[in-house]
Amino acid sequence: MGYERREYPEKSWSVSKMDIFRDCALKYYFSVYGGWNGWEYDASERTKHIYRLTKITNMYALSGEIIHRKIKENILGIEKKPEELFNDIITELRHLTKESFYKKEYFVSNPKKVVMLHEYYYNLYDNKDRKELAVKITERVKNSVFNLTESETYKNLKAANTKIIELDDENFNYFIFDGIKIYAILDALYINSGKIFIGDWKTGKKDKEKNDLQMAVYIMYFIEKYGQKLPEIKADNIICLNEYINDGSSYKRNISEDELTKTKEYIKTSEEILGRYLENPDINKPKEEIFFKPNPGKRCSNCNFIEICDFHEIKKY
Ligand code: SF4
Repeated sequence: MGYERREYPEKSWSVSKMDIFRDCALKYYFSVYGGWNGWEYDASERTKHIYRLTKITNMYALSGEIIHRKIKENILGIEKKPEELFNDIITELRHLTKESFYKKEYFVSNPKKVVMLHEYYYNLYDNKDRKELAVKITERVKNSVFNLTESETYKNLKAANTKIIELDDENFNYFIFDGIKIYAILDALYINSGKIFIGDWKTGKKDKEKNDLQMAVYIMYFIEKYGQKLPEIKADNIICLNEYINDGSSYKRNISEDELTKTKEYIKTSEEILGRYLENPDINKPKEEIFFKPNPGKRCSNCNFIEICDFHEIKKY
């Protein structure tokens, strides 16, 4: 299907979107609405500017993305040793970091074509900070690769008796709940020894509440998409496995029907809250930017929208 223009983005919900909203409503406005259609030639300069800022990533996110991609290749293709994988990831990371450093001007006119890192775009780091960050990221990548290849999920996915259903799918998988698109982009969904597993590799910090919510959403997705083919599978038969690849720990559990019901209620309530920020819910038209309250603080130093936000609390900028 070709490109279908929309005046406003399609209504959708995801755990990460809700995180942004709870963190700072203004940031949510910029991420979801402010830059919408900013890729169009005749968009206003401000819309183009916001759109460009939504494309900024950072060293942590970029390294996590490369790790996920390389691991997928390792599972589906010829298996490389962890040392080789580590070298591949660091080489790609260095290449993209260099590009980000030298191509800021190019990024301004072609935001889709170059990876831009927050660390270089905003230049908030001095040389010492940068060196420290590079050491930290290298250490994280090393830990992640070694822990991940030792993880239960990885071993299960490599096992001959495993049937992989989904693996880091590049399509933005979703299901419809309460008339809204709910995104559920999971790392691994597979059957091993007759049991269904949902595996999620986490490069960031542990957050039990958030991880449980995310797993419950994945289960809703599973039931919606595969439930008819596998009607005997109930939520509490599915094994949810979070692997924290930075420190090598893992967290395995089932999600009960009761938790699923609570998750559905939470999604409905949060949708209702987001609905209060809409001028026209039918077309997902937001209210004016001024309705989205800024929440300045420490979080601003990682925000993509510093240069257009009058409320940021960045001393160095
Ligand atoms: S800079 Fe701070 S206040 Fe402004 S949008 Fe970002 S997080 Fe919110």
